Amino acid sequence: MEKFDLIVIGAGPGGYVAAIKATQLGMKTACVDSRGRLGGTCLNIGCIPSKALLQDTHLFHQLQHDSQKRGIKARDIQMDVKQLMKHKTEIVKGLTDGIDLLFKKNKVVRIDGKASFKDAHIVNIETNEGEVKEIYGENIMLATGSQPSCLPHVEVDEKNIVSSTGALNFEDVPESLVVIGGGVIGLELGSVWARLGAKVTVVEYLDGILAGQDDEIRKSVQKSLEKQGISFKLSTKVIGASSIPKGVELTLESAQGGESENLIAQKILVATGRKPYTEGLALEKVNLATDAQGFISVDNHFRTSVSHIYAIGDVIGGSMLAHKAEEEALVAVHQMKGINTHINYAAIPSVVYTWPEVASVGFTAEEANEAGLDISVGKFPFMANSRARAIDDTEGFVKIISHKKTGRLIGCHIFGANAGDLIQEAVLIMEKGGKAEDIAHACHSHPSLGEAMKEAAMAAIDRPIHI
Ligand code: FAD
Repeated sequence: MEKFDLIVIGAGPGGYVAAIKATQLGMKTACVDSRGRLGGTCLNIGCIPSKALLQDTHLFHQLQHDSQKRGIKARDIQMDVKQLMKHKTEIVKGLTDGIDLLFKKNKVVRIDGKASFKDAHIVNIETNEGEVKEIYGENIMLATGSQPSCLPHVEVDEKNIVSSTGALNFEDVPESLVVIGGGVIGLELGSVWARLGAKVTVVEYLDGILAGQDDEIRKSVQKSLEKQGISFKLSTKVIGASSIPKGVELTLESAQGGESENLIAQKILVATGRKPYTEGLALEKVNLATDAQGFISVDNHFRTSVSHIYAIGDVIGGSMLAHKAEEEALVAVHQMKGINTHINYAAIPSVVYTWPEVASVGFTAEEANEAGLDISVGKFPFMANSRARAIDDTEGFVKIISHKKTGRLIGCHIFGANAGDLIQEAVLIMEKGGKAEDIAHACHSHPSLGEAMKEAAMAAIDRPIHI
């Protein structure tokens, strides 16, 4: 039986990063994944295909609605959905093939197959070619990710009632689409199809979208998406779904109960969250502890209840984000080699790639107030930023939250063009334990959207210049 220092199960952003770093640190490493392509959810059916569709449909939407005033005379603009999907597939293939090259370069042993525990050191693999083999791992890392969690009474068939995977692959623009769930995935994919002409309605159980984000941003995003043609039914729950010739008829009820109403749509996207993916691993053979929702429990070093078995990424819960999985992978592998590194969960950013984008890190003002922190909030609108004016993309603002007494930067929340890139400056300062004044005193190139970060930081410590 072939022996490895480390067997990684799952080749998503957590697993493939762990496998590469482990070989770089001198460990003989195998990475097992059953998907047939490396990169996991993120590259194949998550971050990358969704961002490819968001980019292309944003361009399409801009040409349709935002070009005339810029002097661009574009007539008869149409979307070829088949080509849109082909472009997305090519982008995904380029990246997944790239990881294969990285595996070869770093000498990670790639095994395509479904892994399960035989015992605490032996992993059984049913290869994608139909063979069965066993390998031995001194250490084993679970990076098996997550899968969509469904609603009772709304059965996903990936045709008319789809998960995010189905909504990344529609062959035509649906006439109407109901998105169940006003979180990140629902709003991103809802935006894609709304931009192409689908009548999109988001049904959300809570009284607002994007739970956990800055309150002002949540409201601004909703208003902005409404302007883009998306409608919202908040404080509403879906209690049933049935197929009809035109598509699907949903039965809705107010979150507080009461009379029901029906809503018909050609397609339904269920985007109500994700659950840990541990099916088929035979966890019972190694007695791994999980929490009430089935997430694998780990300590600060990402060790499970069996000390040489580690777990990272979506399968351990927390923020389900690719970059969080990657950071955990790096910390866990370093720990295995006795090298101390850390992960600072307070400085993990999250981005919603709607247009405008939303990006946030750390405390919102509401959370800081609840925690009893004395804070200073600096806000600066993109309307007063010269680059935003020059590119005529002035919606939104930057909000900087600092601790009043120490000046420490404890949060940053951005709604605006390229927010996902701008947030990195705040992440770096927070990671280094820096202050709002570190941003305020740094020279920012002109004209740049980054100057809005500087001005918001100036507003947090004193006063900005341009408002
Ligand atoms: P995964 O990427 O889920 O990889 C796990 C892999 O393990 C899978 O390939 C699976 O097939 C394999 N596997 C599972 N069990 C076994 C087994 N027994 N044997 C062999 N292989 C197995 N995050 C962001 O940060 N930014 C975004 O913009 C973003 N957009 C998203 C958009 C969508 C539509 C979705 C669905 C998710 C998005 N995410 C985004 C979340 C991100 O994709 C996940 O957080 C990330 O992929 C988690 O990485 P992971 O390594 O933990 O697991």
